[in-house]
Amino acid sequence: MKRGAPMKRTGFKRKSGSPFSSLANRGTALRRAAMKRRMHKPTVEEGALYLAACRGEPCYLLIPGVCRLDPHDKTVVPCHSNLLEHGGGMGLKAHHQFTFPGCDVCHFWLDQSRIPTKQQRRAATHAALARWRPVRARKMAAVEGAQ
Ligand SMILES: [Zn+2]
Repeated sequence: MKRGAPMKRTGFKRKSGSPFSSLANRGTALRRAAMKRRMHKPTVEEGALYLAACRGEPCYLLIPGVCRLDPHDKTVVPCHSNLLEHGGGMGLKAHHQFTFPGCDVCHFWLDQSRIPTKQQRRAATHAALARWRPVRARKMAAVEGAQ
């Protein structure tokens, strides 16, 4: 038997474009593993989903007079809350749950500059989390729904 064309392989193609989509399958396996355990402690891998959700997002800190307010800012990274109530401030990085996308200048203003007062730092962190959480929830629900 002669084949006209080599068999084409399909079914292994991953939808490209969203770096977030590649985490979906990993997420399923992790959730199954987590369900086996009685106590559900957040794992490092689950934390990674919170971090991954920050990708491709604009800045959520939006510090007035500091932020570039660029919706396509390429400097945005997941910023960890350093607030005590979020587990930060003691030399420990706050849990990944308390992360939000922030651009480099806002991140610097918050974490390294001496500009903000304790109250301003706290307010900025809470504002960023309040803005980010509903967006992240929708994003993470969409990943689960895609399975
Ligand atoms: Zn910013």
